[in-house]
Amino acid sequence: MKKAFFVFAAAFCIVIFGCKKDVCEPQTIYSLGTICVVNLYEDGTYENYSEIINLLKDIDNKFSVNKEDSEISKVNQSAGSGNAVNVSKEVYEVVEQSLEFARLTQNSFNPAMGTLIKMWGIGTDHQRIPGKEEIAEALEHCNPRVIILTEIPGFDESENLYLIEITDSKTQLDLGAIVKGYATDKIVEILKAKNVRKAIVNLGGNIYVYGQKSKFNPDENWNVGIKNPVNPDGEVIETVSLKSGSVVTSGNYERYFEENGKRYHHILDCKTGYPAESGLASVSVIYDKSIVCDALATACYVSGVNGDFNPYEIGFDGIKIVFIDFNGKPVIK
Ligand code: ADP
Ligand code: MG
Repeated sequence: MKKAFFVFAAAFCIVIFGCKKDVCEPQTIYSLGTICVVNLYEDGTYENYSEIINLLKDIDNKFSVNKEDSEISKVNQSAGSGNAVNVSKEVYEVVEQSLEFARLTQNSFNPAMGTLIKMWGIGTDHQRIPGKEEIAEALEHCNPRVIILTEIPGFDESENLYLIEITDSKTQLDLGAIVKGYATDKIVEILKAKNVRKAIVNLGGNIYVYGQKSKFNPDENWNVGIKNPVNPDGEVIETVSLKSGSVVTSGNYERYFEENGKRYHHILDCKTGYPAESGLASVSVIYDKSIVCDALATACYVSGVNGDFNPYEIGFDGIKIVFIDFNGKPVIK
């Protein structure tokens, strides 16, 4: 009986994952609006990959603004109604962190720009340049202060209530600029719990290299290439060498459209209402927490090299940032 089950399980593994023996091929799935690739090397078991794939699906179901019944969509649908929405602890904590990133970056990263982001629709089939008045009106509704978080303690922690209310009917949450970083950190938690020895996680360019790269040489680093934003399909512009950690890039070449010779990309500046123009083509952030990399890559892209906040002085010791200009050259800060 046991043997029969094993044969069945192995066959299932091959069909779903293309596994050889008990180690599967690296997995590619479409989630969080992007292509996600995970390689667990020798520890790439069916069980380990399944856990990661289920995690990604769960995060997408909770955070997507494109799914009507996600928790974030429910909060958005209740904006201005006077009612707070009961959310999971997880969603509550990520929104809380997003508000903290907004504070630290003087709103260069701003999770309350959903209305403006939808209006531009960059990367969708209804992308367009909105009128000046429309933009001015949407900018009135990008203030993160209207997002109110309340935690109500229960008899024990499992009974706590987590509530989010948007007090302005025209303000909408959009966590697109941190959710991949958040998901990456959650995958790393699984890698630790499962004693995975080494892995590469790549959620649409949001990279984490994990564990000892070489079995034989504990000092050998991982090398992560940074694309040339001016020629993303060409040779990498710089290589980041690291023991373990995350590398996240925000750039003007990822999602955009062009009209009358001008490029309109998907990272918006809530001070102007237009795609950020800070003189940069991309920003890469290197740190051991991917959510920090993701938030700060977006924020530094918006704010520029000498912008409204100093990314080296907001409490993330050891952070590295690579700013690239429109000539495809690194700018030293
Ligand atoms: P990507 O997700 O393409 O890697 P980002 O992490 O920079 O790039 O996130 C961009 C996405 O975040 C946009 O598609 C939009 O949903 C949202 N967004 C755009 N501008 C901002 C901003 N200034 N602050 C926070 N979120 C933003
Ligand atoms: Mg980001």
